[in-house]
Amino acid sequence: MITEHAMERAEFTCGHCWHRWTIDYDVQLSKDDHGRDRESFTHNGIPTPSPYTPVGAWPCPQCGRRSVGRLVERRPLPHPSIQPAAAVPAPSD
Ligand SMILES: [Zn+2]
Repeated sequence: MITEHAMERAEFTCGHCWHRWTIDYDVQLSKDDHGRDRESFTHNGIPTPSPYTPVGAWPCPQCGRRSVGRLVERRPLPHPSIQPAAAVPAPSD
């Protein structure tokens, strides 16, 4: 069950060359069968591990060293299941 949908901006700072960059993620919060919170991250529509964990660390665009992100901005998005239905074509007659 999806409980929340948000855009999260993660900032990464390379520990090697100190390059800094940000990536926007689409995050869905949901509850699993045991009532535990789950976060699902996607980037450009591609499922990805949490950027705040080592497994989701991103390679530096300049030197390739992987960095763990930190949350710098969070914006709630309309919940997918309560978005208004797409426009329905008018009856032809
Ligand atoms: Zn770097």
